[in-house]
Amino acid sequence: MKKIVELIVPCYNEENCIQAFYDSVREVFKKLYKYDFIITFVDDGSKDNTLNIIKEVVDTATIGIVQYISLSRNFGKESAIYAGLSKSRGDYVALLDADLQHPPELLAKMLDALENEGYDRATARRISRTGEPVIRSLFSRAFYHIINHVTVIDLVPGSTDYCLMRRSVVEAMLSMTERERFTKGIYTWVGYKNKWIEYENVERVAGRTKWNFIGLLRYAYSGFVAFATTPLRGVVYLGVVITIAAFIYALNIWINAVREPYVPRTGYSSIMIVMLFLGGVIITTLGMIGEYLARIYMEVKRRPIYFERETNIVDNYMTCDKEERINNQVENNNGAM
Ligand code: UDP
Ligand code: MG
Repeated sequence: MKKIVELIVPCYNEENCIQAFYDSVREVFKKLYKYDFIITFVDDGSKDNTLNIIKEVVDTATIGIVQYISLSRNFGKESAIYAGLSKSRGDYVALLDADLQHPPELLAKMLDALENEGYDRATARRISRTGEPVIRSLFSRAFYHIINHVTVIDLVPGSTDYCLMRRSVVEAMLSMTERERFTKGIYTWVGYKNKWIEYENVERVAGRTKWNFIGLLRYAYSGFVAFATTPLRGVVYLGVVITIAAFIYALNIWINAVREPYVPRTGYSSIMIVMLFLGGVIITTLGMIGEYLARIYMEVKRRPIYFERETNIVDNYMTCDKEERINNQVENNNGAM
C-alpha cells in the first residue's frame, strides 16, 4: 500500500493563491508517484472568496484528494494548523502556506530525509531574507537572539513553520492543547530528530501578508511568555537586589548619622528617589505576574482551539480520541486479515 502524504494549508483571504498553489503542488505530486496525496485546506474564517475557490479546486482536482475545513471565524494561523492536524490521517503530514512562499519542491527532499535517513521531521529554513523589509529582518534577528537566551527552547534563526513530520510527531503536537499556541516553540519543545532543509526566500505569488509590525511584536511576545518562566524568576532576583541595595543605603545613612551627628538632613530627595524607584518596580512586577495570570485564566477555561463551520471530510477518524483511534485501527487491521 502506498504511504499517504498529507499537506495542511492554512488559508486566510488567499483567493488569488489557492489555484496557483494547487497547480504548483500537482506538478510536485506527479514526480512523487510513490505516494498518495491529500491536501487539507483550512479556511481560517476568510472574508473573501477563498472558500468558494477551495471548493472549485476540490471539484476539479485531478491528482490527490483535496479536502477542506472552514472555521467559524478567524482563529489565527496557529489554531488553523491545529484544526488541520487534528483532522489529518496521513502517514506523513506537511504544513505549508498557501501563498507558495514555502516551495512545494522541497517536499521531495523532506520525504527523503524521513524515509531514507531516519529523521522524524524535516523543517525548512530560509537562508536568505531577500525581498523582506530590512527592519523586519533586524527585529527578527533580535527576537531569535533574545528568545534563545531567556526561554527553555532553542529556536534556529530562519526556521519556518514549513515542515514534514511523521505521524508520531503529529500526535505529540496534538497532545499539546494549550490555547495560546506558538507553533515554532511547540516544535522544538516536543523534540524528535529534525533535519533542516535550506532554501532561499521566495515572495508570495499574490495577495498581501497578514502580518503587520504590531502583529509580529505580539507574536514574538507570546512566544516569550509561552515558553519562558525566566521573566518571573527575573522579577524575584530584582526584588532581592533591591532589598540588598536598600539595606546598603540604610547602612550608609546610619554611618553618616553616627559620623556627623550635627548635620541637619531633611531626607526629602532620598525618600522620593526610593519611593519612585520602588513604585516602578512594584508596578512592573505586578504587570508581569498579571500577564501570566491572564494566560492561566485563558488556559483553565479550556475553550476549544477552533470551531468548524463546514467541511467535506466525511471520515471522522480523527475526531475521536487517540485511544479510540488506535482501537479502530486494530479492528480495521483485524478485519482486513
Ligand atoms: N494565515 C491564516 N490565518 C491568519 C493569518 C494567516 O491561516 O490569521 C495563513 C495565510 O493564509 C498563509 C499563512 O498563514 O497561508 C502565512 O501567512 P502570511 O503569508 O500572511 O505570513 P508571512 O508569510 O508574511 O509570514
Ligand atoms: Mg507568506
